[in-house]
Amino acid sequence: MDNNNNNNNNEHECPGGEYEYFGNSRSQGDYDRPRKRVSRETLRKRQFGALCVIALIVLILIIIMAKACTKDNPKKGGDTKPPASVSTTSGTGTASDGSLTTSATTTTVPTVSAGPNDSGFLLDKYTLYIPVGGTDYAYVTAYPNGSSEADEVWTSSDPSIATIDNRGFVTGVRDGECYVTLSTAKDLTKEVMIKVIIGTGVASTDTASGTVTGTDTGSGTGLNTATPQQNTTTAEPQQLAEAPAPPKINIEGAHYEGDVLIVNKSYPIPASYDPGGLESTTYTWFTKLSADAAKAGLNIYLSSGYRSYSYQSQIYDNYTSIYGQATADTFSARPGHSEHQTGLAIDVNTIDDSFAGTPEAIWLEEHCWEYGFILRYPKGKESITGYKYEPWHIRYVGSEVSKKVHDMNGITLEELYNLDSQYN
Ligand SMILES: [Zn+2]
Repeated sequence: MDNNNNNNNNEHECPGGEYEYFGNSRSQGDYDRPRKRVSRETLRKRQFGALCVIALIVLILIIIMAKACTKDNPKKGGDTKPPASVSTTSGTGTASDGSLTTSATTTTVPTVSAGPNDSGFLLDKYTLYIPVGGTDYAYVTAYPNGSSEADEVWTSSDPSIATIDNRGFVTGVRDGECYVTLSTAKDLTKEVMIKVIIGTGVASTDTASGTVTGTDTGSGTGLNTATPQQNTTTAEPQQLAEAPAPPKINIEGAHYEGDVLIVNKSYPIPASYDPGGLESTTYTWFTKLSADAAKAGLNIYLSSGYRSYSYQSQIYDNYTSIYGQATADTFSARPGHSEHQTGLAIDVNTIDDSFAGTPEAIWLEEHCWEYGFILRYPKGKESITGYKYEPWHIRYVGSEVSKKVHDMNGITLEELYNLDSQYN
């Protein structure tokens, strides 16, 4: 720049400060060529231009490589919504989110397969078939934002059927079915479920739907013991049959109205109320519901079912630490006050406000009563139920009560039985 300072060591490059590569420049191999006078500024411009071109090329290369990578790994990204309806021709009973592929198998179905939910987790499979004593795992291909392998929190809905270690290895203990839930320590509400089927009839990991099927309507096995077995043999013809009331578990501190177990802010159930998993009639009838929704081209899948007392404690504590207790109480139940602890409640699909108004939400609200379910926290009943509108949360009560609720325009259990729902 400044002529005076610009000498000595780079003399041969910038002999005059103003001009370079002129005449007696001693650059190698330049001797015989005709020289052009090029101003320093022009040269700088050219250099800059060249740099730009190189940068552009590099950028293009990066884009191309990134694209190639995404093709290799379409599961990245983590926000994939479940397919509206999965036409499973392959017959691998796997594609579900631990919901209910198995019983859905008859002829029409496997549509129920949920695939990933919106938790941000993605797995390589959502159903595990494991023989007693065997071990398997689902590989996690994506985590919710900000989480990693180190934050994995694994729980089994029924450790007497399948145990899970903190790395996600599932071991079959006895014949039955249960769920394994993966969530992240960073946010315990982000969770994904894997259906686990243990035992006889479990041939291999990649069981075509046929194998596990016929046997299972969620009956008997792992889900719960006290099963009214009315549905065992015939799978289909009783589409309009009555959904029976769920079995009563009489335990001190549990409040029943008739056959209906009441759990709300006024009526907790003790920590010892532990069905160990989703109650089996509930599961069976949800399977029917889901299968019929599939026939209507809709994908209604189980996102969250049974939660133990201690698991609910973790969730609730997590929320109170983030939002404070007052706010947390409007959408998360205190431990002992969650219907999910009963094994009779199911959250479907996307567990947030975005589910409202979807074709699935509308169908669910119109038809769930036909399968013995009620929408537990309807719109406009917040002050009665104590919870905000939750279009995704259904509660199994059996047809007798669900029909009554339907006929009374979606009345709440609190209104039906004249109950409060308030924390003391
Ligand atoms: Zn719920």
